[in-house]
Parts: sequence; C-alpha cells; structure tokens
Amino acid sequence: MDCIFCKILKGDIPCNKVFEDDSFIAILDAFPGNEGHVLIIPKSHYENIFDIDEQTLKNAYGLAQKVAFALKSSLGAEDINILQNNGELAGQTVNHFHIHVLPRYKDDKVIIKSEPVEIEKNKIEQIRQNIEKNINI
Ligand code: AMP
Ligand code: ZN
Repeated sequence: MDCIFCKILKGDIPCNKVFEDDSFIAILDAFPGNEGHVLIIPKSHYENIFDIDEQTLKNAYGLAQKVAFALKSSLGAEDINILQNNGELAGQTVNHFHIHVLPRYKDDKVIIKSEPVEIEKNKIEQIRQNIEKNINI
C-alpha cells in the first residue's frame, strides 16, 4: 500500500521518533507548524476517524495528552492545539489516521481560523434535531 506512514512504520522512510510502544509511534512532523509539532500514529493502518476502532482512538488521545505535557515541560510550550483531519475536504493529506499535537508559543505564526457562517434560527433547530437523532451510542 502506498502509505507514507506505513512506510515510516516499516522503517523504509526515516523519521524523528519521540515515542514508541506496541500500538503507536509519535514522530516530529516533517513540515512542522511550530517547534515540537508531533504526530501520533497508530501502528495499524486506519484511514481516518470513520475507520479506527474506539479503543485505539481513546488510546491515541491518551497518548496525545502525554505528549502535550511533555511539550510543555521540555520545550516550554504555553498552550497546545490538538488537531485531527478526516478526509480531503478537511485537509487530510496522509490517509493514515494521525493526531497533530501542536505546541503554541507566544507570538508564534500559527493561524487556525474559520469565518463564522450565518444560519437561520429554524435551520439551527433542524440541524440540532438531525444530529441528535443520528448519534448512536
Ligand atoms: P494531515 O494534513 O492532517 O493529513 O497531516 C499530514 C501531516 O504529515 C502533515 O503535517 C505533513 O507535514 C506530515 N508529513 C508528511 N510526510 C511526512 C513524513 N515523511 N514525516 C513526517 N511527517 C510527514
Ligand atoms: Zn498507513
């Protein structure tokens, strides 16, 4: 399969690894948004959030929290963004599930922003109901 993260996991492409266990690696992003931009990558190939099982997802976020603490204590990151893109429209460029742990420093150049869209009041209620009845727990 032509997956860059699977190739990294096989050792075919080099990476800067900061953590590894049986299920995950965490590596420095090759095109970092900031110093210490880490990617949490499960060793099994899941495309995205629609594909990954719940337990692996939970473990991935548990690891993201540990990395976030490490970025605070090692690099002095003041704040942290946790980002995770799913699908092309959402900006996913590598189709192997991963979580971005992006440290934030005062006066850094990172921009994460969307403009608010206007939605009619009735439509909001429709949207709310639709989502509510589609949440399967
Ligand atoms: P996304 O856009 O959410 O799919 O994120 C993919 C991320 O993988 C981007 O931030 C890229 O900079 C990063 N990336 C791409 N190739 C590599 C690589 N060989 N090693 C480490 N990070 C990479
Ligand atoms: Zn893969």
